[in-house]
Amino acid sequence: MDRGAQSAWGDPAPTDAARFGVVNLLDFDRDALTAFCERLGEKPFRAVQVFRWIHQRGADDFAQMTDLARSLRESLPQHGHIVAPPVLSEQGSADGTTKWLFDVGGGDAVESVFIPEADRGTLCVSSQAGCAVNCRFCSTGHQGFSRNLSTAEIVGQLWFAEHHLRRSLDLPAGQRAIDNVVMMGMGEPLQNYGALLPALRTMLDDHGYGLSRRRVTVSTSGVVPMIHRLRQDCPVALAVSLHAPDDALRDQLVPLNKKYPLGELLDACVHYLGAAPRDFITFEYCMLDGVNDAPEQARALVRLVRGRVACKVNLIPFNPFPQSGLKRSPRERVAAFADVLQQAGIVTTIRRTRGDDIAAACGQLAGEVQDRTRVAERRSRGTIVLAVEKGARA
Ligand code: SAH
Ligand code: SF4
Repeated sequence: MDRGAQSAWGDPAPTDAARFGVVNLLDFDRDALTAFCERLGEKPFRAVQVFRWIHQRGADDFAQMTDLARSLRESLPQHGHIVAPPVLSEQGSADGTTKWLFDVGGGDAVESVFIPEADRGTLCVSSQAGCAVNCRFCSTGHQGFSRNLSTAEIVGQLWFAEHHLRRSLDLPAGQRAIDNVVMMGMGEPLQNYGALLPALRTMLDDHGYGLSRRRVTVSTSGVVPMIHRLRQDCPVALAVSLHAPDDALRDQLVPLNKKYPLGELLDACVHYLGAAPRDFITFEYCMLDGVNDAPEQARALVRLVRGRVACKVNLIPFNPFPQSGLKRSPRERVAAFADVLQQAGIVTTIRRTRGDDIAAACGQLAGEVQDRTRVAERRSRGTIVLAVEKGARA
């Protein structure tokens, strides 16, 4: 169970303490903020106040925190700051989807996507710049891995989006814009576990974003040891990117399968649900023309999961990109595949693609930043517009 756990914990991103001599308070969950306040000789309730100002009110300036003692308000800036990654651009889609490109330094950029729906607002959050898993159908994977995001860079995407949307949508005080978070942006969240965990805790914290456990989803390509860790530490909703009903095909599509094959992965899913008995696993399955979309493969998928793990299957239309050499399955083939699963009693959905016109759909997030090393250059040439001045806190 420990195999790979150490490396999957993730090499930490460089800290602000190392870079600026002060800490970024977006790096802290409430426990860590309490410890920080204690080091400054402050009582734990001060941490609750500061945490609420940051996450519930969107404050980035200690002077705004009027219920803190003036001496504390004045001393805090010497020790910490509140800084989300600067926004390089904002793009809105005709269907209401909004995509932000965040500069995380060193020529790297990551994206977040807001997807408004009738009954909820979802933010799709990135966990890494690039990704080391290198799935065949994923443009992030094709970029290679650059680095892990810090907790502040993960939480900062939500902090920025939530408060920016509240302002721009002019929401009444206290009304949330985002009540659902999916870790389905760039990167493999369970290969950056050390930064992910405090971020999840902040999302769930009643003094933070107060999201319900079922409204925060970690999506993974199958880092088995870290699925076990997540079960123990913070059992939020789990989505597993399956994409194939057998090891031979999954080895080709998701190279991590060679390390953690389907049998182990499904056992980890079953074990995970032990900590969340009324939940289910969402299996994601990207429909690739002539590769994994045959009715026989649907039947193999039924044999793999039925009676073994409580699950739903989400069929994702593949979003093509030039280097993949793969094609999206025709609509009828997706429908026939769904039909086999549904006939077998497996709840199956076909994902609607959103934000297609701004390349914000699954697996397209890397498109615009394909050559991440050129972000700085493009920025200096002025070809990336700082469209959201308020969010740009460079
Ligand atoms: N690394 C994690 C989370 C990010 S990817 C994971 O793999 O689960 C989020 C989802 O987008 C995954 O289900 C992934 O399989 C899917 N995806 C990646 N590239 C895609 C593409 N080109 N078209 C459609 N879905 C894609
Ligand atoms: Fe990484 Fe997920 Fe893309 Fe695979 S699908 S390369 S795990 S981001």
